[in-house]
This record gives sequence, C-alpha cells and structure tokens, in this order.
Amino acid sequence: EAKNAGGNTYRYFVDDMAENYRRTFMMRNQLQAVLDRNGLEVYYQPVIDVSSGEMIGVESLVRWQQDGEFMPPALFIPIAEQSGQIIQVGEQVLHRVLKDIQNTPLLQQLQVSVNVSSQQLKRYDFAHFLGSCLRNYKVNPQRLCLELTESGMFEQQKSTESLLERLRALGCQLAIDDFGTGFSNLSYLNTLPVNIIKIDRAFTRDLDINERQRTLVGNIISICKQLDQWVVVEGIETKEQVEMFTALGCDRMQGYYFARPMPLADLLNYGENMVHSS
Ligand code: C2E
Ligand code: MG
Ligand code: MG
Ligand code: MG
Repeated sequence: EAKNAGGNTYRYFVDDMAENYRRTFMMRNQLQAVLDRNGLEVYYQPVIDVSSGEMIGVESLVRWQQDGEFMPPALFIPIAEQSGQIIQVGEQVLHRVLKDIQNTPLLQQLQVSVNVSSQQLKRYDFAHFLGSCLRNYKVNPQRLCLELTESGMFEQQKSTESLLERLRALGCQLAIDDFGTGFSNLSYLNTLPVNIIKIDRAFTRDLDINERQRTLVGNIISICKQLDQWVVVEGIETKEQVEMFTALGCDRMQGYYFARPMPLADLLNYGENMVHSS
C-alpha cells in the first residue's frame, strides 16, 4: 500500500507539472500577443515627502489587461524573465515612460522610477539601449531612477559594480528595490553606486509587531543618511505606519495610504489637487 501512495503522489506531481507547464505556455503566448500590438500599459504611483506633503516622484508600474482583468506583474514578470520576453517588456515600458515624461510637464518636475529586471542587465547591453533612448526622447537623465532588485544583481559583484557605474555615468539615479527581502548585505550600501534604498512592503508590515525589526530599520535609515542615500518606504497603508517611519527618520513614502498606482490622466488630476490643497 505504501507503493500505492507513492504512485499517487507521483501522478499528482506529474499532473501538477503538466498543469504548470500549460499555464506558463499559455501566458507566454498571450503576453507575446500583447507585446506584438504594443498593448502594455503603465501606471504611476506617487512617492510623497511627508515633511513637506509634496509629491516628489512616481514609480512606473507595468499593467497588462487581459479579458478585462489585470494580470499581476508578480505572476507574469518571472515568466517573462524566464522566456526572455522581459527584454521586450522592459523596452516597451521604458519607451512609454520616456514618451510620457517628454509630453508631461508634471513628470518633468518629478523623479520617475522604472523597474529594471536583472535579466535586462544580464542579457544585453542595457546601458547602451538606455543611453540612446534618453537622447531620442531628450529626457534629462537626472529625472530617471532605475529600480534594481538585490536578487540576481549581486551574485557577480565585480561585473555588477562596473555595470552600475555605466548607468550612473549616463546621469540616472539608481535605487535598490525591495531592500530587506533578499540577503541584504549592508556593505552593498557602501560599495555599490546607488543613491536610493527602497524598503520593502514586507518589512513595513512587520514593523507593527516586531520591535527588533524596528530598531534594525531605524539603523538602516540612519546609515543611509550618513552615506547620502535617500530611503523610501513602500507599502504604507496606515496613518500609524506614517508616524512610525517619520519617527524612524524616513520622510519619503509610497503606498495605498497616499495613492494607488494610476493611469497618467489620473496622476495629472492628483498632482493638481495636491498643489491646490497645499
Ligand atoms: P515593486 O517594484 O516593489 O513595486 C511595488 C508594488 O507594491 C506594486 O505592485 C504596487 O502596486 C504595490 N504597492 C504599492 N503600495 C502598496 C500598498 O500600500 N499596499 C500593497 N499591498 N501594495 C502596494 P505591482 O504593480 O503589482 O508590481 C509588483 C512587482 O512587479 C513590482 O514590485 C516589480 O518588482 C514588478 N514590476 C512592476 N512593474 C514592472 C516593470 O515595468 N518592469 C519590471 N521588470 N518589473 C515590474
Ligand atoms: Mg519598484
Ligand atoms: Mg519595491
Ligand atoms: Mg516589492
């Protein structure tokens, strides 16, 4: 009977694999169809400086509508990374964002972040591509911030360093995204040419309950300040979280408490209302 149970487990495993494979395959094809018609959208989420109450930046976030629903990036980005489609995704997002900056005075006054997958950095000459885009759209590179995740970036630290130096040489800002989720090594803060640290939402949530975590984050914030790096906390959903991070010395925040990611047209309204209310 033990053998039977094992057999069943195996069958379920195989069924599972087949199902996963089928879904991945379908998603790749659907994504390719969207890419072929240049159909990805970009939403923008405000970053707020709570000491002045002003919107100082936005993060661009890719949006894929499929049959009237949004496909979560957390689901399709990893698949696009595996298939190599992330190159095309990243290029379409960057074109859209640079075009939006070019056409939108509001965005020209803000720091605009773009998420860049480590696969984009590994698979081809991203710095070259970015440089020519910036020239084509005549966008001030200082306005653009590239958000890079720790995972996949720091495996080969030497080559990463020189790659990041090239991106910095273009004039862009560099951020470490999702800080605190990977094997966060504090020495990166000192050795890599990054100017912004984004503390992950998972951290933000835990702080409510975990005193030691709070101390740790407070220390990270003060280290970053000493290194002249900005800290942004992500995933702020409550007033309590705003107060807690303010107390820890961090002013720059992003989260549903302030605003959700939204289409450019809505961001323009949001920006106007902010000016009127201050
Ligand atoms: P991320 O770069 O850390 O982006 C922040 C994510 O947190 C976004 O999810 C945003 O909608 C969400 N968020 C912001 N504030 C809150 C909040 O208060 N509460 C909660 N629950 N969530 C909040 P989104 O748009 O689903 O994106 C998920 C991830 O997918 C991003 O995490 C990023 O890693 C990736 N991604 C999104 N757009 C792109 C893109 O254009 N290129 C690449 N390579 N990756 C992207
Ligand atoms: Mg990000
Ligand atoms: Mg993040
Ligand atoms: Mg995140």
